[in-house]
Amino acid sequence: MLSEFDIIRRFFTRPAPSAVLGVGDDAALLKVAPGMELAVSTDMLVAGRHFFPEADPEKLGHKALAVNLSDLAAMGAQPRWVTLALALPKANEKWLEAFAGGFMALAASHGVELIGGDTTRGPLNICVQILGEVPQGRALTRAGAKPGDDVWVSGRLGDAALALAHLQHRIVLEPREAAACLKALHTPEPRVSLGIALRGVAHSAIDVSDGLAADLGHILECSSAAAVVELSALPRSTALDRRLGQAAVRQALLAGGDDYELCFTAGAARRAAIEEIGRELRVRLSRVGRVESGAGLTVTGANGQPVKLKATGFDHFR
Ligand code: ADP
Ligand code: MG
Repeated sequence: MLSEFDIIRRFFTRPAPSAVLGVGDDAALLKVAPGMELAVSTDMLVAGRHFFPEADPEKLGHKALAVNLSDLAAMGAQPRWVTLALALPKANEKWLEAFAGGFMALAASHGVELIGGDTTRGPLNICVQILGEVPQGRALTRAGAKPGDDVWVSGRLGDAALALAHLQHRIVLEPREAAACLKALHTPEPRVSLGIALRGVAHSAIDVSDGLAADLGHILECSSAAAVVELSALPRSTALDRRLGQAAVRQALLAGGDDYELCFTAGAARRAAIEEIGRELRVRLSRVGRVESGAGLTVTGANGQPVKLKATGFDHFR
């Protein structure tokens, strides 16, 4: 039977050469490079709330870190270190091996080091804190959108919502369609390089985790601005249009959640620069609307008329 300390030693102790001190003491020690600010973010994944308890542990390990990387991407920060607090119902070796494998593989691909955490028994719960660096004063925030800015979205929206509908047997997808959108749901690729490339280019940014309407809404609130977004300009897969009815497509694009794409705003003078960034990073970047003065988000349909939204995003307490 694995003890708490066996678990930490076997699965979560890895070299952390860029930290002064990593896993194994009462605290990790870090040195932030001169001229840099520390960007810190935490995201928790709760079984039965954010994922099915029987979810594939390797993908869960990936996703637990990916959602945190996505937050730093939205700040234009370079992820450096993570901590991992885990509550586990039991010490299941196979589960731990797969979970740690998924987590560490994504960490390695972003050069992120695991430097500490906590391990306890309890209902399955995964809490990751991520720390990154960003040059002083250059972080992207939700507060800088200006009237006249373009609104941009990376990648595609709605695939994770489509995957969820498939898993819940509300729709049937062809194997190829299913594979693509299940990948978006289970193993999203956080837009870290895009966030960094947008430093000094974008005026504001957020990662789309709760749905575009809610998350762009946060930018607008923090920036005291309004925006108009064109439904037809929102990037989506052909499967989304093919498999869902109009109202469901709209809902998936605007309030699906779990997209982990970046939504950002930038001056119109930056269009060519942004398109160049997209080509270089091989990320689809779509211009979907415009920031205006005022408050609130308007989404327009094919006829130019505003469309009505049902729920605008996920809220745990509503
Ligand atoms: P303490 O009793 O001081 O909280 P712990 O016994 O909980 O210390 O942890 C021992 C060491 O292992 C600490 O450095 C802690 O950061 C690290 N640690 C514990 N759980 C994890 C985990 N899941 N992932 C990474 N490091 C962990
Ligand atoms: Mg502890």
